Amino acid sequence: MTDLEDLFDSHTHHFDSKNRAIVQLTELFPDKLPPFFSFGVHPKENDFDMEEIGKTCFRLNEYKGFLAIGEIGLDNRYDSAEVQEELYVYQLKLASELSKPIILHCVNSWDRCRFLHEKHAPETTLIYHGFNKASIVKQVLEYPRSIISIGESVLSNPKLRLAVEQIPLHRLLLETDMGNHELIDTYKSVSEIKSVSLRALTEQLDQNAKRIFKYD
Ligand SMILES: [Zn+2]
Repeated sequence: MTDLEDLFDSHTHHFDSKNRAIVQLTELFPDKLPPFFSFGVHPKENDFDMEEIGKTCFRLNEYKGFLAIGEIGLDNRYDSAEVQEELYVYQLKLASELSKPIILHCVNSWDRCRFLHEKHAPETTLIYHGFNKASIVKQVLEYPRSIISIGESVLSNPKLRLAVEQIPLHRLLLETDMGNHELIDTYKSVSEIKSVSLRALTEQLDQNAKRIFKYD
């Protein structure tokens, strides 16, 4: 039985999270690595060394806690489309080579994110993190390799609540990201929306996590 004190959090920037969280590494080699983590260069970065990213990923791959490449992706609020795309594709190829799921940062770029994923890493799982664009939920779900991860916006965004109704439980994850709410509040809100008990939701998301991130 799943312990409700030990909720799965698919993406957080809180290094000392008390949840069973995939922590986004911001420093390359912190003295103490969290039990589970992801590494990748965010599309807003424009100062990076591609080869170094590759080397770092291979080094991190010696740790069992390295569960995903991310967050990576495309964000049309930044005026650097070409650089973003080059970086995204490079990291998609890394994910494919290392057989890791991808935590996707996508802002107004779903079609392109999907196209490039299908082209360069089609056998990996694409986790659309911080999903809050209710109007495209159907399009995202049409892509069989996608998983949708929802954060605390669900507490305040009625359209997103309607979108969550449409997401099958086996394709859903929940996260804190940079948020300040307790993860349990997001779990409670989604359990209401989906009309399932908190316990059942927790167990399902736990199974999803194990299936997608292949950890033990
Ligand atoms: Zn994040």
